[in-house]
Amino acid sequence: MLRCYIGLGANVGDPLQQLRDAARALAALPGCRPGPLSPLYRSTPLGPQDQPDFLNAVAALDTSLAPLDLLDALQRIEAAAGRVRGRRWGPRTLDLDLLLYGSRQLDLPRLTVPHPGIASRAFVLWPLADLCGEDFRLPRGEDIGTLKRACPGPAPVRQAEALGPAAGRGEIDGNE
Ligand code: ATP
Ligand code: MG
Ligand code: MG
Repeated sequence: MLRCYIGLGANVGDPLQQLRDAARALAALPGCRPGPLSPLYRSTPLGPQDQPDFLNAVAALDTSLAPLDLLDALQRIEAAAGRVRGRRWGPRTLDLDLLLYGSRQLDLPRLTVPHPGIASRAFVLWPLADLCGEDFRLPRGEDIGTLKRACPGPAPVRQAEALGPAAGRGEIDGNE
């Protein structure tokens, strides 16, 4: 299995619920084993500013799916969350971007990996650093800490809510 990282984002509907549902859907994908989930962050939108702030996170996922099969699976989860493709970087119920697929570099018509936005997006770098550490190197050799320090714009704001159950505690019983 290869360790992948998926960037999650949502800014319409019920973003927290949509991201939690997406994390569960990722964990249930055939041929995949869920890894750790990052904390949640609130970030200002990329591109058009006349839309709500985003809620973002990153999920680690171990997978035996081929890259395009994983992309298809991500797009099915987006569609199930009611994703409608409108204007570029517009509001969405769910965005699932394949940030890293092991250390592979791919430049296919439907899939570029590492995701080209990683280096310049605070809402990706902060949660990725939470999962991998600042010394983690991307396939071309840049480390996350250096990219964070060079990243333009405000830092995303860490949220108190969690994307899923705390690691190692299993499902949390809602009646406790
Ligand atoms: P951005 O990719 O800049 O974050 P976006 O997430 O809003 O923008 P989408 O509308 O979700 O863009 O996706 C547009 C297309 O990007 C998809 O149809 C997909 O084929 C392609 N794509 C290329 N590389 C990736 C990747 N690493 N992860 C997800 N989609 C990708
Ligand atoms: Mg995106
Ligand atoms: Mg996308």
